[in-house]
Amino acid sequence: MLRTNLLLAAAILPLAVCAYTVESPGGVTVVTTSVTSDGRPVYSVTHKGKTVIENAPLGLSTDIGDFTKGLRETGGESKDLRYSYSQDKVKRSFIDVSARRATVSYGGPDGRRMDVEWHVADNDVAFRYHLPKQQGKASAVVSAEATGFSFPEGTKVYMTHQSDPMIGWKRTKPSYEEYYIVDAPLGTPSQYGRGFTFPALFKTPDGIWTLLTETDVDGYYCASHLSDYDGKAYTIAYPMDEENNGNGKSAPGIAIPGKTPWRTLSFGDTPAPVVETTIMYDLVEPRYRVGRYARPGKGTWSWILWQDGSINYDDQVRFIDLAHELGYDNVLIDCYWDTNIGEERMKELIGYARSKGVKPILWFSSSGSWNDIEQSPVNRMDRPIVRKKTMRWLRDNGVDAIKVDFFGGDKQETMRLYEDILSDAADYGIDVIFHGCTMPRGWERMYPNYVGSEAVLASENMIFSQEFCDKEALHATLHPFIRNAGGIMEYGGTFLNKRMNKGNDGGNVRRTTDAFQLALAVLFQNPVQNFALAPNNLSDAPSEAIAFMKEVPTTWNDTRYIDGIPGKYAVVARRHGSDWYVAGVSNLDKPVKLDLDLSELSDAGAVATLISDGGADEVTRANITLKNPAKTQVMLRPASGFVIKTHSK
Ligand code: CA
Repeated sequence: MLRTNLLLAAAILPLAVCAYTVESPGGVTVVTTSVTSDGRPVYSVTHKGKTVIENAPLGLSTDIGDFTKGLRETGGESKDLRYSYSQDKVKRSFIDVSARRATVSYGGPDGRRMDVEWHVADNDVAFRYHLPKQQGKASAVVSAEATGFSFPEGTKVYMTHQSDPMIGWKRTKPSYEEYYIVDAPLGTPSQYGRGFTFPALFKTPDGIWTLLTETDVDGYYCASHLSDYDGKAYTIAYPMDEENNGNGKSAPGIAIPGKTPWRTLSFGDTPAPVVETTIMYDLVEPRYRVGRYARPGKGTWSWILWQDGSINYDDQVRFIDLAHELGYDNVLIDCYWDTNIGEERMKELIGYARSKGVKPILWFSSSGSWNDIEQSPVNRMDRPIVRKKTMRWLRDNGVDAIKVDFFGGDKQETMRLYEDILSDAADYGIDVIFHGCTMPRGWERMYPNYVGSEAVLASENMIFSQEFCDKEALHATLHPFIRNAGGIMEYGGTFLNKRMNKGNDGGNVRRTTDAFQLALAVLFQNPVQNFALAPNNLSDAPSEAIAFMKEVPTTWNDTRYIDGIPGKYAVVARRHGSDWYVAGVSNLDKPVKLDLDLSELSDAGAVATLISDGGADEVTRANITLKNPAKTQVMLRPASGFVIKTHSK
């Protein structure tokens, strides 16, 4: 296989100077790097002998030199790497990593030096650049990257658009809240001509599913996205100049020696390695320690159905009581609490919540000088003096989690703001959820008090748009393979209202069934879940649905892809303690009988519970026996869903 790769590289790139090959521990994945005749570094990736990436460019353009051409490979070294770690808020609680770690060095005749570090596991490949100390320079601005991803001809793409900057609600975009192209040909143009955001999913003509994203992004770099297809590759693109209302530079500045974030590819001949990958956590380290670990849990959230008008004392009491009734940990009190209730009465409200065993999460705007947001509190998170004062007030008054909304974009300046908020919050024992924000990039492990990001067209769009309600099932069958595969996703889902308004009697119409909504509670993974339930659901929703929403956990020990095709249907199993929850949802237009293979989860003869739609608006809970766990049959109807709960073997 290795010999073939080298021959192929030589055939396409005459005069390739030399090639360095890295093989994964199981030998199934091979990365080959080489240099073209004009000194451009390139790389290829194969999995089980099938091409994933072919001769894609590498390199950086910087103010201390051009590291995209005129280079030669000056050496390479590699070693085996094995380590493990634990996590309390992602797909899996104990993670074993086995990879080959390699460094390939490049040099130019004028003393330029660049290294590319490779992490090659059986189902994941990642790489990043290092700029070693050179020519007396201690800093560099990286103006662009040559980094590209060249998939084979015939590859299908599943991607979401990068928005134009400074558009949308109060000029708050981009915020990773766009529609997807699904099963589209390579090169399908982006909606705004601005490219696509991470994560992106690809299926090669040989049937290799590949998730492309990045990780280990903090205040030392910008977040990146993908350009439109240039005929050969999708390339790394930096933030748009106009983001953040034009404040801050698009090009990241780094200290020398310095490094870039990791770009990661996770792949396999089924979507399982995509759904299950932990590569974005494997490659990062916690940035600091906290006195206590994040406080995952379930919560209620008045704003999602009752909107801005519900941020008053009495309505918040109703949602605190609802949280108490459901046995939930949190209540999320959204925008305008500072003006509608006021800081003094908030102390009373927080006291009431805590007397009921419910912890308040308070909303803030991130802004700042980067958008037109009026929802308050504003200007409390953008500078350290007022931010720390706010954090102290929160801690002193019994608040230990916040939600910060409406960020300015992906520039390095904004990455610093995310990190600064997290760091200051950690000093005061406060957990942080981000909304109107970028996608997390390894932050689950990097920042112990980070507990969620929106970065998705989330549940609020059910209220805003009937079209979104009509597409709910489509999106639900994409997220486990794309957005939520790349990081935790604070979606705010599970509506049991059939109509998207306070009275459950007007507004947009939910197209999906109640069992579909219950399945989302398992399918969408975030350690804090602010569900879209309302007090009326205690009396107007099926009692089995409420019973399920009381018991469903939000943290998981393990995650498995069971079945599904992105955009068609999805079945994912998650284990909490000794219980597996197998959740399925459908975007198919016909009922299908699925033969699910649960043999790795449960033994033959195990009794399981099937939660599904019954007739006449009912949710049913039935015992089933897994006679043949390798072939458990479930009927999945259009816009419907199910959960199978079974005891772990
Ligand atoms: Ca939003």
